[in-house]
Amino acid sequence: MLVQPLKRWDTIIVGQGLAGTTLAWHLLEAGERVLILDPDRPNTASKIAAGLITPITGQRLALSWRVDEMLAAARAFYARVERRTGVPFFYPRPAIRLFQNDTEREIWAKRRLNDSYVKHLSVPQPDVLLDPAIGDANGGGFQMESGQLDVAEYLAVSRDHLAVGTAEIDWSRDVTFHADHVAVLGAPANRVISAEGYAATRNPFFAWLPFKGAKGDILTIRFERALSEAAAPATPSECLHRGIWIVPTSEPHTFRVGATYDWDNLDDRPSAAGRAEIEERLRDFIRAPYKVTDHNAAVRPIIRESKALIGLHPTQARLGFFNGLGSKGALHAPWFAKTLADHLLNGSEIPRDVDLRHRKEAAEYVF
Ligand SMILES: Cc1cc2nc3c(=O)[nH]c(=O)nc-3n(C[C@H](O)[C@H](O)[C@H](O)COP(=O)(O)OP(=O)(O)OC[C@H]3O[C@@H](n4cnc5c(N)ncnc54)[C@H](O)[C@@H]3O)c2cc1C
Repeated sequence: MLVQPLKRWDTIIVGQGLAGTTLAWHLLEAGERVLILDPDRPNTASKIAAGLITPITGQRLALSWRVDEMLAAARAFYARVERRTGVPFFYPRPAIRLFQNDTEREIWAKRRLNDSYVKHLSVPQPDVLLDPAIGDANGGGFQMESGQLDVAEYLAVSRDHLAVGTAEIDWSRDVTFHADHVAVLGAPANRVISAEGYAATRNPFFAWLPFKGAKGDILTIRFERALSEAAAPATPSECLHRGIWIVPTSEPHTFRVGATYDWDNLDDRPSAAGRAEIEERLRDFIRAPYKVTDHNAAVRPIIRESKALIGLHPTQARLGFFNGLGSKGALHAPWFAKTLADHLLNGSEIPRDVDLRHRKEAAEYVF
């Protein structure tokens, strides 16, 4: 779709990743006229993400922030968009966690004594995978509330249903603020929202934010024989975690494996070191032969660990922000999008710890 300069939009969103797309749906559901602008590059963090929704993560098996609210918002939202578009892209999928050592098993057992964890974690199982190709000597367990968003499919379907223009915005040149509107590439709107992922580090209006960013490499692998013969990981409908994760795709015998965290080389070029790291960890516990059929990399936008930041610019009320989804985009995007949409449309409060205007840098920065 081409940008229609003469039409007045309620909101123009810059960026059609998980953040921008999910916000657009929420504003549209509230009756707004929304335009998204994005250059539609093939390799973005959202397009290559595995889309795993794992409420409990890390070696310490930490329960994700506000997990019940996030899960409820995510399930309800993705189901609504699936109904509206008629295309499935969200799959509840139990995840199997293989314990790497005795300590992990002990932490798992201890966590199960806690009421907030018990619905997420099965009883530890000595032989969670009775499969000779997988080294599961330490046993494992099932994470029951997990799921997977086919992010690329969700974005593609949304692009067909939302008003999306193909454009890359230069904020110094293409965006002008006026008393009663903002213009983006000449198109007038009531407000503009930056949802650019890590590329927002180039946005002059948000240069004061302490972005970190973590590059992630991810592989697609194909086992050489059928699952039943090769005894490849788990069953085709489950995700397997053991330091790294392996998730099924819709292609036979084909899985995605990842991901790395590189805090220094913040580009989107697949790296030999990233591939080597993933393959080394894969060989730790999978013995079936496979081929690498694809390799991608992108930078996750991180401002603060695991929590996005949303809200209005400290001095420019027509400029909003939605960024920093980190490793939790699939789980967190719907809750943050709803919270931001409610704030923009009804003035409802954003929790202080995720409100852009309450960042200490906002108070310190001279605009
Ligand atoms: C290897 C890897 C694996 C991952 N796995 C998972 C996972 O399993 N589960 C999970 O929840 N998360 C995962 N993530 C994290 C997830 O990808 C991010 O949380 C999420 O994609 C961030 O979405 P975003 O919309 O903020 O940013 P992005 O996906 O970067 O989207 C930003 C969009 O804005 C566009 N844009 C940028 N600048 C401009 C401009 N000036 N004008 C117009 N458009 C612009 C870009 O082209 C892009 O389309 C993974 C990330 C990586 C790298």
